[in-house]
This record gives sequence, C-alpha cells and structure tokens, in this order.
Amino acid sequence: MTRFNTQLVHGLPVGDNNTGAVNPPIYNSSTYAYESVDKMPRWDYARSGNPTRDFLERQIAQLEHGTRGFAFASGLAAIHAVLSIFKPGDRVVVGKNIYGGTYSLFNEYFAERGITFEPVDTADYEALDDAVSGRARVTFDGRPLEACAPAKAVYFEVLTNPLLQVNNVARISEVAHRHDAIAIVDNTFVTPYLQQPLDLGADVVIHSATKYLAGHSEVNAGLVVVKDETVGRGIYFAQNRLGGVLPPAECNDVRRGIQTLALRMDRQQANAQAIAEYLLVHPLIKSVNYPGVRGDSARVLKENGLKGFGGVLSFEVVPGVDPGIVLDNLKIFRLAVSLGAVESLAELPCRMTHFELPKAERLKVGITDELVRLAVGIEDAADLIEDLGQALDKAYEAYLQTHAELDVFAQVSSGVFA
Ligand SMILES: *Cc1c(COP(=O)(O)O)cnc(C)c1O
Repeated sequence: MTRFNTQLVHGLPVGDNNTGAVNPPIYNSSTYAYESVDKMPRWDYARSGNPTRDFLERQIAQLEHGTRGFAFASGLAAIHAVLSIFKPGDRVVVGKNIYGGTYSLFNEYFAERGITFEPVDTADYEALDDAVSGRARVTFDGRPLEACAPAKAVYFEVLTNPLLQVNNVARISEVAHRHDAIAIVDNTFVTPYLQQPLDLGADVVIHSATKYLAGHSEVNAGLVVVKDETVGRGIYFAQNRLGGVLPPAECNDVRRGIQTLALRMDRQQANAQAIAEYLLVHPLIKSVNYPGVRGDSARVLKENGLKGFGGVLSFEVVPGVDPGIVLDNLKIFRLAVSLGAVESLAELPCRMTHFELPKAERLKVGITDELVRLAVGIEDAADLIEDLGQALDKAYEAYLQTHAELDVFAQVSSGVFA
C-alpha cells in the first residue's frame, strides 16, 4: 500500500486507459454502446456512472478510507443526496454551528418534508446523548419537545465556520452509535490530509470539493464517502435518481486539484498561522479565532486526531473600527465568499456568508458585526500580512477622522484597545 501523499497523485486506475496517457481520460459521452441487446455494458448512461467520475469517486474513497465514493454537482447536492436516505418521521441531531446553505436545506426543505432537525452543542456530550436518545429535546429556537425515539443520525462539521471551533469526531460518533444513529461529518474545512473521520468512527463523510479539494475557485463540486454498504446503496440511489451528478470535465478538475492538496494545504496552514500570530498582537484586533495560536494547540490536535487547523481564520476588530473599511482596502485578498483555493479571500460573515441567519441567532453563536473571515491562499505570507496591515491603517485613519474630537491616545492607555 502506498502512502497518502502518493495516493493523492495517482488515485486508483479504472483500468480503461490503453493509450499510455498519464492522466485518466475525460469521457464526453452521455451514452455508451451495447455490444448486443443482451450484453449490458459496464457503463450505459453517464448519470448512472462513467469512467471519469468513477476515477474521482475511487480516489476520494481511498483517501477517506471508505468503501465507496460519490461525486455530485455541488456540496449541497451531496448533502441533499445524503439526507434523502431518511424518511418522514426520522430525527437528525445537528451541530449548532453549520454551513448556512446546509442550515437552510435542512430547515426550509427537509423539515417541511417530515424530517425533524434538532440543534445541539456537540461539545456537550451529555446534551448530545440526551438529544440523540430522544430523552430531552429542543427546537432550533429553543422550545422544549416531548421525549421520542432515538435519532437516526448526528450531523456536524469538524471545524466550525467561521469561528473554528473543533468538534471531536471520535467522541461524537461514539455517542451516536450508543443509540444506533449514524455519524455524518462535513469534512470540507479539514480534508482527508488533516483528518480521516471514518477512521475515528464516523459513518459518512461529505465534502464541498468546491473548496480545498478542487482548490482553484474554478468548479462547484461535492463528494461523499461511506463505510457501510447499505448506506452506500441509499446514496447511490439518490445520486442516480435525483441526478445531481458531477460532469466528466469537472470530475477531472477535482481530480487534478486533489493531486496538489498536501502541497497547497501545507502552505495555506503556514500562512494562516503567520497571519493569526500577526493579528494577535495588532492593536486594532480584539480577538483572533485560529486554534493554532492557542496555548493548547498541540493538545487539541492530539485529542481530535487532527494534523492541522487548515487555512481559514477569523478575527474581530476593536469597537469603533469599521471592518468594512478594512475589507474594502485589501489589495491582494479578494473580497469574496468561499475558501480553500490558491488565492486569498476575505469576507464579512454578517453581510456575506452568514446573512441568512437571523441576527439574534448569529450573535448567539458568536458571529458579530465586527467579525472578518480570511480564507488564506498560497501567496507569500509577507505580502498577505502587509496587505492586512495597510488596510487596517486605512480603517484606523477613518476611525481618527470620525473620532477627531476624542483623545485617542488617552483611550489607548485606558484600555479601549485592549
Ligand atoms: C461551501 C460549503 C458547503 C456547500 O458546498 P457547495 O459546493 O457550495 O454547494 C457545505 N459545507 C461547507 C462546510 C461549505 O463550506
């Protein structure tokens, strides 16, 4: 067996390449000819399967240590397919801080079709056990519900967005299994390079491959990997019948992106760490969310079976400083949603990625109006830090102009900027 970094590059050949081409072929064909009417070919119709997609699906299944992989037209198409294995009356316990599009898909689509979603603080294992068991339950807005049958699944993200809280896959999966529920993990922010959730006990892994796996802001794609054959059959049914499949050319984009995942992720993490350390001591920054700058980061990695914290971080500016001015003056960071690509992006969660969340809900999970998220790319860290520095200077100049009547230096010494 080859090692992970070698597997990234080579994948598992589908066995269809007779030309010596070093890359797997892209088959631009929606249909495949039968040799005769009673001889069903291996591939017949591209929605059901095709060799280009098969290569990618085997590649991700190998990297995530699962038995079967599935490629979808987007991360949300993947999540839709996974959730469609449940039936009206089923309950799913959901981590409190999940991707906004997932939150909306659950609460505005599946909930209206009879599946119940219950939020829980996945760091509180007792509350999680209560919720999964059906003993003590609350709705998303905190209303109590009566006891009922155990949940069918626990759904959560490993690193939460944009506050970078770490969810412990092993412990959460263990609680789920206690009640015969499956553990479904969105591993988008982490990737199999930093953690393989199936090895830690999870049952299903989901990726928005749009992010780190494809890695170049070129495609929307979603991937799913399962351990169990029955769950796999349900997801294949959804892939083939709902039909949200990833086309061959995009399968190739993701395949190619995966080849350089380790190299990109190493640089993104090193850059994120350098930026977080810079921001931590900057006088205009109130707080930095990146587990790599916490005193206990080595312990957090070990306890969670993680190899790193990825390339996303967030920070709050001090009160009175306008984060919009910081963002509008960035020159290398582009002002955009998404993450995980080679270029650095910055955004204001309250106005961009998390605007769908009701304000009270948003503030409850810690996404304030001052919070800025950075998705760090592979550029030179010194350029990225200089870019942030000059944008923060502009925000400070604007602050001084609007507070001209105040003695700013007196405020500094009295701790306003602490
Ligand atoms: C982007 C994202 C999704 C949705 O993926 P799309 O490819 O945009 O459909 C789901 N989960 C997480 C954590 C994401 O960041």
